[in-house]
Amino acid sequence: MKDTLTPAAAETLETILLRCVECSTSYPGIEAGWAPRYRCQCGGVLDVEIRLPAGASHLRQLFDQRAATPPTWPLNTDTMLPDHSGVWRYRELILPVPAQFIISRPEGNTNLYPAGIENCGAGRIGHRQIGHYAGLERLFLKHEGENPTGSFKDRGMTVGVTMASLLGAQAVACASTGNTSASLASYAAQAGMRAIVFLPAGNVSAGKLAQSLAYGATTIQVDGDFDAAMRLVERVCDELGIYLLNSLNPYRVEGQKSIGFEILQQLNWQAPDWLVLPAGNLGNTSAIGKAFRQAYQLSLISHMPRFASIQAAGANPFYRSFRQGFAKREQVQAHTVATAIKIGDPVSYTRARRVIEESNGLVEEVTDEEILAAKTIIDRSGLGCEPASASTLAGIRKLVEGGVIKRGELVVGILTGNLLKDSQTGIPQREESVAVAANVEAVRKVLQQ
Ligand SMILES: *Cc1c(COP(=O)(O)O)cnc(C)c1O
Ligand SMILES: [Zn+2]
Repeated sequence: MKDTLTPAAAETLETILLRCVECSTSYPGIEAGWAPRYRCQCGGVLDVEIRLPAGASHLRQLFDQRAATPPTWPLNTDTMLPDHSGVWRYRELILPVPAQFIISRPEGNTNLYPAGIENCGAGRIGHRQIGHYAGLERLFLKHEGENPTGSFKDRGMTVGVTMASLLGAQAVACASTGNTSASLASYAAQAGMRAIVFLPAGNVSAGKLAQSLAYGATTIQVDGDFDAAMRLVERVCDELGIYLLNSLNPYRVEGQKSIGFEILQQLNWQAPDWLVLPAGNLGNTSAIGKAFRQAYQLSLISHMPRFASIQAAGANPFYRSFRQGFAKREQVQAHTVATAIKIGDPVSYTRARRVIEESNGLVEEVTDEEILAAKTIIDRSGLGCEPASASTLAGIRKLVEGGVIKRGELVVGILTGNLLKDSQTGIPQREESVAVAANVEAVRKVLQQ
């Protein structure tokens, strides 16, 4: 990394504080003898504090305007991508970077699908099946699999790689269950940086691995699980001066906040009763929780939704802690078919705990069977998602059955990744398709069966 910061980086970082989530010690966004800081001296994870703008009514206007502004000719290639990004549209609440420094695909702008029994529209019979399965009248599913590389990780990565670029980093690295590495590889390639990704050997789906390799990342398969890869990459980055972009990086969380802001904008700034999402490393629980907290502080909304974070039963350290009233931080050896949430020691535990507590939320667990059953419902509805994402619907169903979520409450669920991310797990395989001779008679026979 460069010894001196670009003026733009210095200016941006001067407006930022990094605060330890464990002991509240704060650090300047930019330090003398600059070196990137990812942890507090006490070992705690750091959270970005930006000065929130005073008054919020103009923000709503600004965000709505950016979403609706038609392009000008000639195109302004510095601002066209950021203004149309579902992350940078909210940059006053994310990271105040001048538009020309932003590295964006653009990302976000994902659809919010009505899928409840009452709210999904007369013709959308497939999606209504989801509502029946959930047992909810008013349900929306936010499909983050519609991001450029097929998962919500792009929302954090655009901010992380923009920061890396401001800092003059030549190389960036992460440990990943697959989606973070796919995203990092794509954004690093766009920024002309070297990407190095650490994957748990044998635990990453073929599609995600293919993305990292295709985008040109140096792809290292670690002999160990995700948690081992995570520990390794932190040491490698420290010793080799590579900019670290896994969920320890505080700026990625800021980017993922945009899921919350975008949901609110799509709901015309009405907060739902519940926000339900898969929980692995807990970055999303932390980020979306922070977004709603800030929206509430700015009076953009009148109440916080209750958060329900859903874990796979075989990868449930957060659930175990929750069941003890968060008396103890738990770790497990993770086992689940949902590889994106196969995490035994989540990095963002403390931030996520705060979200559950302050939103009067909860943590639930679902079995792999429940995840796969819910995935089949989502896939057959025409939406489709990767296995980890389906834990959202499995969790909603369980919570509705248990009487925790009421049938009439307004629920937003997050689908985190695209169906094509994992073409092996929980869907019919090639052998289940039908081979026929190329004539109508043969097809007629098949259809009559
Ligand atoms: C990363 C990821 C998750 C886990 O999200 P956390 O923020 O780490 O809890 C869930 N689903 C998909 C598809 C992911 O890529
Ligand atoms: Zn600390």
